[in-house]
Amino acid sequence: MTVQRLTLLGSTGSIGTSTLDVVARHPQRFEVFALTAHRQWERLLEQVRRFHPRFAVLTEAGAAEQLAEAVRREGLPTQVRQGESALAEVASAREVDSVLAAIVGAAGLKPALAAARAGKRLLLANKESLVMSGALFMQAVQAGGARLLPIDSEHNAVFQCLPNDGGSLARRGVRRILLTASGGPFRTRSVESLEEVTPAEACAHPNWVMGPKISVDSATMMNKGLEVIEAHWLFGASPEQIEVVIHPQSVIHSLVEYVDGSVLAQLCNPDMRTPIAHALAWPERIESGVTPLDLVRIGRLDFEAPDPVRFPCLRLAFEALRAGGTAPAILNAANEVAVEAFLAGRLRFRGIPTLIEAVLESVAVTAADSLEAVLAADACARSRAAELLREAP
Ligand code: NAD
Ligand code: MG
Repeated sequence: MTVQRLTLLGSTGSIGTSTLDVVARHPQRFEVFALTAHRQWERLLEQVRRFHPRFAVLTEAGAAEQLAEAVRREGLPTQVRQGESALAEVASAREVDSVLAAIVGAAGLKPALAAARAGKRLLLANKESLVMSGALFMQAVQAGGARLLPIDSEHNAVFQCLPNDGGSLARRGVRRILLTASGGPFRTRSVESLEEVTPAEACAHPNWVMGPKISVDSATMMNKGLEVIEAHWLFGASPEQIEVVIHPQSVIHSLVEYVDGSVLAQLCNPDMRTPIAHALAWPERIESGVTPLDLVRIGRLDFEAPDPVRFPCLRLAFEALRAGGTAPAILNAANEVAVEAFLAGRLRFRGIPTLIEAVLESVAVTAADSLEAVLAADACARSRAAELLREAP
């Protein structure tokens, strides 16, 4: 078996640690080339002790110094690097076969693009990068000869339900893609009571344990909105071909409907190690450590339509997708600012969609035909969102 050399971008996060859990189960198969994080140097040090990567990168300078000092003291074989450019370097290094893109938010865009351009096997968790720059990102994948493997559980499920032969959805006989959503922690709470929601309540997801940003996105259902845009780019599905279905048990992770009426679904327990193991080993299958599915214990699977009043973010995402150009980048940036403000206690939960809609209404959409255009839209939306936050009562 040839050993696969891995770079894990965002190794200290929820996806990063689940990935290392799977990697550790298969020491013959995987070798860790680089691990990266933002500022959690102590967590990264623990991972460096365990996996002995060639490189460890921290984007924050102070944290990188602390890590370098500890690595020297303990005589570990790892070289410590600092800064954004080091992320792109370890994502595109010649020795690397596969790159896990698991940084949260827009910060993940440049290193993910670097991996795509360098033709890596790219295991994509960082949906925000694809939402921001869809067309450019897919062009980079194509031009670099990269292999894009979705980690997001819904897209990984769709990938598993599609034939492996590539080509358009029409050629493959696909009518629709059905993305499932749990509905998050507020699916059944009265809409009025959402006014008083705290960050801790929003982050307490009923089925998944995830980082804080995506947890809030799940509570507003912006996560599903971002995933609709992600599905558009990954699978070439038009907005009309993508339907969102609420499925509170999170057992079916998504479905593909064919023109003959067949619907294929992928099921597993809600544990990200399944899609991670699938993408790591594809086209083979490996053990992930996930508990086997017990259908009798689960008993029933429920489905309902998402409530547009409770979840306005879903509509905003569909509108941004239809508007095209830099609209999804503007949506994403406004959402990142809104979620950060909510987590910091500076914005009410129901203020999140209001802020995003106001930004979308006031920032001009342009063609998203260069990285500069996308980053300019991102910056413009962030400063408009910050301005609106300051003006808010
Ligand atoms: P997290 O907050 O747990 O971890 C984020 C990681 O990114 C950390 O390692 C952190 O150090 C790093 N990071 C944060 N800001 C950075 C910056 N400015 N520069 C460089 N590195 C930075 O997040 P997560 O829940 O693991 O999610 C990561 C990505 O995966 C997100 O895009 C999310 O939407 C996606 N995703 C997550 C899940 C899940 O179950 N957690 C599921 C599907 C998709
Ligand atoms: Mg998902």
